[in-house]
Amino acid sequence: MGARLLKKGRVEELLNGWAASRRVVVPGPGPDYEDFVPWKGQGFGLPPVNARRSLKGVFFCRTDKLFRYDKRDGEVVFCEELPEGHVVVFGARPCDVRGTAMIDPVFMEDPDLHDPAYKTRRENSTTVVVGCDAPGPACFCTSIGGDPHGKEGADVILTDIGDAYLVETLTGKGEALMEGASLEDAGEDDIKEAARRAEAARGLVEKAFEIDGIKENLDGFFEHEYWKYMYEKCLGCGVCTYVCPTCHCFDVTDEERGPGYTRYRNWDSCQFALFTLHTSGHNPRPTGMERMRQRFMHKLNYFVHKYGVTACVGCGRCVVNCPVNLDIREVVREIGGIPR
Ligand code: SF4
Ligand code: SF4
Repeated sequence: MGARLLKKGRVEELLNGWAASRRVVVPGPGPDYEDFVPWKGQGFGLPPVNARRSLKGVFFCRTDKLFRYDKRDGEVVFCEELPEGHVVVFGARPCDVRGTAMIDPVFMEDPDLHDPAYKTRRENSTTVVVGCDAPGPACFCTSIGGDPHGKEGADVILTDIGDAYLVETLTGKGEALMEGASLEDAGEDDIKEAARRAEAARGLVEKAFEIDGIKENLDGFFEHEYWKYMYEKCLGCGVCTYVCPTCHCFDVTDEERGPGYTRYRNWDSCQFALFTLHTSGHNPRPTGMERMRQRFMHKLNYFVHKYGVTACVGCGRCVVNCPVNLDIREVVREIGGIPR
């Protein structure tokens, strides 16, 4: 499909059409845009930058029912209930979708050890991204390999050109989704205007730091004095990890829900003291220092070693939502300034 136009006045009609046969999620509810919520004809709007919570909760649920089990005639019987139905995500920003693509290998890379609930949701989803035209003061996607009009992980990308969006389908799933939509042909001027706006947006994102060499600086940095003071103002509330599109720590609990038992997976945080507490009473990360070191070493070093990419997309949520203003941009600048 060549470039097409979706008139803004037809967006709700499109969402209503999709919602008749599948689940559609959009940023919402307005005006605060706390999260991604089901589309129920509530009136479509986009947050200026991002929803407060990231897209990860659509696929990696805060609480996920993994399976049920019971003992029958001396045998343990398992019953896995996979999520059903197709999901359309509409209106996510490029950094959020890149964040989801970043954690895909964690849950899906190994065919023998993949996470069935996460994999099923990801495979049964189509994502329509809207490029950012007004990045916020805490955004730094371009410092960390991202782009306010980036296409990584998206099936369709929309670019706001005034009273319409320029529509580009990027995958077969995206093509299938947009088939039958009321789109108009785009002209040369529309395509040029979209390219102009994307370029202008790139220029609006602050250059926060130089990421080259950060991973190498952190190799052998585990015992560095730096960690002994940088964590001190942290309250250990875990907000930075809950709002982050790439943080993916979890815990599992088994609950008796008759008949039988149910295993749940719940979000957890490396910033919580209980996260690594052993049943023996020993805790390998007993203080905030070890926990904060883990957060940054994982994002900026361990994840790069394992997956070749820094586990941060520069969405700025942890910067905006941290109650004590602990700012990842300052941390990276400080690490970059410490001689190897
Ligand atoms: S670490 Fe902060 S800026 Fe980076 S992706 Fe997570 S929430 Fe966004
Ligand atoms: S949001 Fe701030 S205070 Fe809370 S755990 Fe993260 S760094 Fe610490």
